[in-house]
Amino acid sequence: MLWPRTPVERVQLFRPPFCPWPECAEHHRRSRGYRFRHHGTYSTRRRSVPRFLCLTCRRTFSRQTFSTSYYLKRPELLLPLAAALQAGGALRQIARTLLCAHSTTARLAARLGRHAMLLQARALEALRGRLAEPVVLAHFETFEFSQDLPFGIATPVGSRSWFVYGLDPAPHARTGRRTEAQIRRMRGLPHRRAFGGYRGSTTRVLRALISLVPEGRRLHLIGDGHPAYDAVAGSHPLVRLARFPNPKRGPRGSPRSREAMARDRAMFASDLLHALVRHTMAHHRRETIAFGRRLNALLERLALMAVWRNFVKRRSERHPAPVTPAMQVGLAVEVWDWRRVLSRRLFPKRESLSPVMAKLYHRDWTTPIYPRNTRHRLRHAC
Ligand SMILES: [Zn+2]
Repeated sequence: MLWPRTPVERVQLFRPPFCPWPECAEHHRRSRGYRFRHHGTYSTRRRSVPRFLCLTCRRTFSRQTFSTSYYLKRPELLLPLAAALQAGGALRQIARTLLCAHSTTARLAARLGRHAMLLQARALEALRGRLAEPVVLAHFETFEFSQDLPFGIATPVGSRSWFVYGLDPAPHARTGRRTEAQIRRMRGLPHRRAFGGYRGSTTRVLRALISLVPEGRRLHLIGDGHPAYDAVAGSHPLVRLARFPNPKRGPRGSPRSREAMARDRAMFASDLLHALVRHTMAHHRRETIAFGRRLNALLERLALMAVWRNFVKRRSERHPAPVTPAMQVGLAVEVWDWRRVLSRRLFPKRESLSPVMAKLYHRDWTTPIYPRNTRHRLRHAC
């Protein structure tokens, strides 16, 4: 996957590769030969920024239009915020450290999440027809707003590379024992769409994964025996499903049975990812007051986590060789840092987002318990 190393702000002789205006015919250009004219400069406190004129639509733009920090009053916050979110900081804690308003951290976290969704979409596009490893599928369990509104998140991950191949939410009803008071409270909740629940989520994930498998080959899926996986993947002609249900385990500290060891070995990549999510993200810790309020915001931050897992974090920190999952699957040749992840702005009309990711990108996956759900509808902000 081609991805520049130098942030666009630091490129001395920047040449726009396409027109940033989504309505322009040159917006979708992939090849060289975009026609533009230099159109002066403007000055900021730090530097002078070149402007350009598109010779097709006759509209102007600047080098900053191609930066992830375009239109920001405090562009310097983006990088430390990404690192702080990934280091387990909650929004208000980060705001205190960075000396900004907590609403700023929330807005920038959403921007980072959208960027991560587009970068992940581009990575998957580059992996089309190249998936050459078994994929471990499990749903990570969490909730939005309160534990009365639980949902799972499908996290397909490569069994050898540990590359995260996607995220897909599966809202479902609260399970387990409930008291009378809890049942009464839940009756009063507004209706929440499930979008197929576990089955819907599994179907969408399988569709995405099958498109990555080389033609004529079947997808090798490793599942934990969830009924939805059996129902959707069990009889699928293009999927070979290996089941590893969690066996009954003895009290803490007792030796693992043979089945338990086989299950833990097969599901390791997924168990590790889920442990990393709980360890590195403030809102997924147990018993926290920083829990996620809205499914959409949770998925934005999880998309950022997936990009960090795939491109920034080494596959294993104990292993001396610096190898990331993206290097394992052949998408990168070196370890990336946050500066590199954010080196270019991505435009939603130029990337192929899956329908569910497009819904999350535009914040159309709402949380009905809130009277207001802000959508992402700004015309020029991507
Ligand atoms: Zn144009």
